[in-house]
Amino acid sequence: MDYYSSQITKLIEELSRLPGVGAKSAQRLAFHIINMPKEQAERLSGAIMDAKNHVRYCKECFTLTDDECCPICRNSGRDHGTIMVVENTRDLAAYEKTGKFEGVYHVLHGAISPMLGIGPNDIKLKELMKRLQADVKEVIIATNSSLEGETTAMYISKLIKPTGIKVSRIASGVPVGGDLEYIDEVTLLRALEGRVEL
Ligand code: ZN
Repeated sequence: MDYYSSQITKLIEELSRLPGVGAKSAQRLAFHIINMPKEQAERLSGAIMDAKNHVRYCKECFTLTDDECCPICRNSGRDHGTIMVVENTRDLAAYEKTGKFEGVYHVLHGAISPMLGIGPNDIKLKELMKRLQADVKEVIIATNSSLEGETTAMYISKLIKPTGIKVSRIASGVPVGGDLEYIDEVTLLRALEGRVEL
């Protein structure tokens, strides 16, 4: 049952593969795109391909960036001895928005989840441990307060403890199961300031 031209159907199919886009939204977006001025559609497809071709992991903190090193790691005004560990680049962005964290980050790209078969080797944990060989004063674990986030936090603190580096966990003012990126800045700041040493 192909009501539309096969090209439109293909566009709807591709859009509906995106997270959070159901069949109806995909249809609406597809028609919106078809009705766009050609230049706007070109900008959209160009932006997608540029991002895809040029975005990579920062060699220090593994956040997504256009360069070998991200602007935060390149900034010598930041405190490179304080590393905040987050699950993904969106969480980093949430903390950056508060404008109050002066340290640097480490992006794990996931969390340990025995249920989903995600182990310590599937996230950027070895990379974190390697960074700790430099002069690091404190590691702040800011993984989500989900089961996976807590499991990861515990695992990391056990790994770091023997090195003598201070390890802390953001306060649990963050609602359980809450994704960091949806939590307002005040709550994030409170969680950061109220962090407890592990
Ligand atoms: Zn970086």
